[in-house]
Amino acid sequence: MTRPILIAGAGPSGLAAAIALARSGRAVEVHEAKPDVGRRFIGDLQIIEAASEREPVPEFLDRIGIERNFYFRPATSATFYDHRGKSRAIRSDAPFGYFIRRGAEETTLDRGLLAQAQKLGVNVIFNSRLSEGDIVATGPASPDGLAREMTWRTNDPERVEVFFDHTLAPGGYSYLFILDGIATFGCAIVAHFKRIDEFFEHSLASAQKRHAFTIPSETRTGYSYMNFHLKTRATSGRSLFVGEAGGFQDYLFGLGIRYALTSGNLAARSIIEGRDFDELWQAELGAKQETSLVNRFLYEAGGNRGLSMFVWQAARASDFHRYLSGWHKRAWWKAMLTPIVQRVWRHRGRCLHKPGEHWCRSRDTEMKVPPLGPVQTS
Ligand SMILES: Cc1cc2nc3c(=O)[nH]c(=O)nc-3n(C[C@H](O)[C@H](O)[C@H](O)COP(=O)(O)OP(=O)(O)OC[C@H]3O[C@@H](n4cnc5c(N)ncnc54)[C@H](O)[C@@H]3O)c2cc1C
Repeated sequence: MTRPILIAGAGPSGLAAAIALARSGRAVEVHEAKPDVGRRFIGDLQIIEAASEREPVPEFLDRIGIERNFYFRPATSATFYDHRGKSRAIRSDAPFGYFIRRGAEETTLDRGLLAQAQKLGVNVIFNSRLSEGDIVATGPASPDGLAREMTWRTNDPERVEVFFDHTLAPGGYSYLFILDGIATFGCAIVAHFKRIDEFFEHSLASAQKRHAFTIPSETRTGYSYMNFHLKTRATSGRSLFVGEAGGFQDYLFGLGIRYALTSGNLAARSIIEGRDFDELWQAELGAKQETSLVNRFLYEAGGNRGLSMFVWQAARASDFHRYLSGWHKRAWWKAMLTPIVQRVWRHRGRCLHKPGEHWCRSRDTEMKVPPLGPVQTS
């Protein structure tokens, strides 16, 4: 009897790998350190982005053998705000993403993937921490980005709003999603992590000033960080590193779900087809990740004026999906900028990213933000 394939971590990357392996008839054991799936999240709304690939998200999920047994709602409109509070309506013909929910409760992506894996015979073992495995899908190991989020139930009207202001969310953005009675407010930053509460409170007050929304006494709050690094290999010994454990993430907006599902599926394919995992992910994700590094550099280097321009252009475009796809294209000048950004932002010395040799960003390159003072609520 052949031994089961061992996967460490039951997040989207580990479960996508498990589902593909089980579909090909392999015995799979997933070890999850926590007592349930999705424990890093709080029932919050997140988005599977649709603009970085030509393949639409539903077709992508079909191709990698994932059923849509979770909350899944197309995103075709939004309101973007710049640092002066100027609002712009965003429209899209094709969805620029699909809202999903994360966490341990019903209808989340995490619970849906778990149900699919278990139905296919995958043995998921909770409260079991693996130090290694055939596939390592253990999520972020080191903070390259940080977010604080709050989620609550609401009767407020639906809205999708994103606030772009480097002073209130340095290097990042804040967002308010109200859909189907669930509200999520989040503040994501790539600098000054110790000040996350200050940035969150100021961003929340600023969003409420635009137009009030109700926050009940019962809310859930969570903090979590995100990983991004560039590598030539996502393998170490017999282990294949997938999802954020392998640094797979779109660095522009810190979106990692599509990368997690893709890299998990590619790791499964490398085992099923006996192919080299590093060759597989390099072909599909390598150039894309480098482009996202340059995009992030431009996002920060342009300051708040650059963000205003981004918001204006996004609104001017008749189709936001097409506009955003343009950012993800591998232009020759972005390919030329990649080594320059890598040199300017390179971290030297030790870090917690795995596996092995890679490029990651120095914290010395953070943008400077003065103290924000007391929160103004009116
Ligand atoms: C607040 C926030 C909002 C986000 N919003 C979006 C969004 O809108 N769109 C998007 O695309 N991305 C978003 N992301 C990023 C996205 O959530 C992650 O990229 C994605 O979850 C990565 O999946 P993963 O499988 O690599 O890791 P995870 O989802 O972190 O799963 C890893 C799992 O491994 C388990 N584990 C850890 N160590 C061990 C071990 N040694 N043994 C066994 N199990 C272990 C953990 O408990 C966890 O369950 C967001 C991230 C944050 C923090």
